[in-house]
Amino acid sequence: MAANKDYYDILGVSKDASDDEIKKAYRKLSKKYHPDINKAPDAEQKFKDVNEAYEVLGDSQKRAQYDQFGSADPNAGFGGQGGFSDFGGGFEDIFGSFFGGGQRQSPNQPRQGEDLQYQMSLKFEEAIFGKKTTIKYSREALCKTCGGSGAKEGTSPVTCHKCNGTGTIQVTQNTPLGRMVRQQTCDVCNGTGKEIKEKCPTCGGTGHTSQQHEVKVSVPAGVEDGQQMRLQGQGEAGFNGGPYGDLYIIFQVQPSDMYERDGSEIYYNQTISFVQAALGDEIEVPTVHGKVKLKVPAGTQTGTNFRLKGKGAPRLRGNGTGDQHVKVKVTVPKKLNSGQKEALKQFAKASGEEPSGHGKSGFFDKFMN
Ligand code: ZN
Ligand code: ZN
Repeated sequence: MAANKDYYDILGVSKDASDDEIKKAYRKLSKKYHPDINKAPDAEQKFKDVNEAYEVLGDSQKRAQYDQFGSADPNAGFGGQGGFSDFGGGFEDIFGSFFGGGQRQSPNQPRQGEDLQYQMSLKFEEAIFGKKTTIKYSREALCKTCGGSGAKEGTSPVTCHKCNGTGTIQVTQNTPLGRMVRQQTCDVCNGTGKEIKEKCPTCGGTGHTSQQHEVKVSVPAGVEDGQQMRLQGQGEAGFNGGPYGDLYIIFQVQPSDMYERDGSEIYYNQTISFVQAALGDEIEVPTVHGKVKLKVPAGTQTGTNFRLKGKGAPRLRGNGTGDQHVKVKVTVPKKLNSGQKEALKQFAKASGEEPSGHGKSGFFDKFMN
């Protein structure tokens, strides 16, 4: 981790930005520069920088140290365990850091619920054409009995008598240095500022229960392996009236036996016989859109690429569809019958070539004999 980088500058936030602002900026930029989405040459470096900045600014302890020492270098006194030293892991790594992310706001303010992630496996063709599906998962949702208040039916929470609704209390301690006053989270209301005299029997006063949840998902045509989609409000229930968190669907696209895909472009290898290559032919090539006729001109060499326009995958942003690239491989028969041999000898003769008759090339023979 390099020192002296301006992490606030990297995330585009001010020095006194709130934890929420930092989290938002990080989410926005990490998506913008994710190498799976952004193909600009400097995207990967920016993605790393953004993660590095958030690793520090997203952690209240590290941020305080960074503010004080201007560095988050472990040698400058950090007990840092590098969460982002390896970027091969992709999305899980990113989310890991804000799922558990320390929030420093006052405990009785409304807080958004946790974000969730859902891994969705797609067949090669499903990723190209998209699909509509319904996913089911369990999440912490507002208790249906009490509507999230945590209070028994017919009752409602009252302002906490101990902290008067502030969520924090002052504790006075006698120490050898004198009387010390410090603030701590109220132990009656756990910082919510509200006291529940009679708890809801369903949720035990938490206001949340684990519930099965269904969401209809429209997978956009053209998604790629590792890409994600955010479904607002489909995460877990918030606290103190705060909104639900979001659901991130992460697509895992299964490879194809036939095709390779890079973005909107599809690659396919087609074998043709040396006769087809020499004389030319019209062949049928499979594509994800069905079979397509391809004219192979006479004299086609092995390794030649042909392009089938519009037979690739749709482009997610912008218009149109990519192409299918067909790479031709010319095969030479491994065994010949006598008729074929004779025909090829005639061919050689007609070309002015004199076969040695030993199955070796004339050139080779000259040096061996
Ligand atoms: Zn309840
Ligand atoms: Zn309280």
